[in-house]
Amino acid sequence: MENEMMIEFDSRSCNEGFARVAVAAFITQLNPTLEEVADVKTAVSEAVTNAIIHGYEGAVHKVQIQCRIEDRKVWIEVIDHGKGIENIKQAMEPLYTTKPEQDRSGMGFAFMEAFMEGLRVESQVGKGTRVIMWKTMGESD
Ligand code: ATP
Ligand code: MG
Repeated sequence: MENEMMIEFDSRSCNEGFARVAVAAFITQLNPTLEEVADVKTAVSEAVTNAIIHGYEGAVHKVQIQCRIEDRKVWIEVIDHGKGIENIKQAMEPLYTTKPEQDRSGMGFAFMEAFMEGLRVESQVGKGTRVIMWKTMGESD
């Protein structure tokens, strides 16, 4: 079975909780474990927070989440049209952050990688960023 949803919301930090719960609600049809739901929520939170604070740097624009279910696999894309990432490989390294003064620890991508099955980042400077993550439910022991 295939099933898809898309949401778009303002890049305000008060929408982070909405985004994470919306994705969690959509994936309940896969009967995920509590741990799987928590993993997906954490990954979505990290990607949405990045779009808000790095992509748009506090300015209010739109963040989009596209979510697709294919059998037991969920694909999530978090999209912003903000400043983009110059060096994606470097940005994805654990502890790398361009905002150390804002108490950022540079662990967002590392968490997404750890909690999801796969992660791919596409970005163009001045155009925006697309974080693609996927996870197959029912594979944890
Ligand atoms: P933490 O997530 O631990 O609070 P962080 O956000 O700096 O810290 P990551 O989430 O791993 O760490 O992101 C690493 C770096 O990648 C960021 O510091 C930022 O420079 C860049 N980055 C991440 N997402 C985006 C985005 N959507 N747009 C522009 N730059 C981004
Ligand atoms: Mg982050």
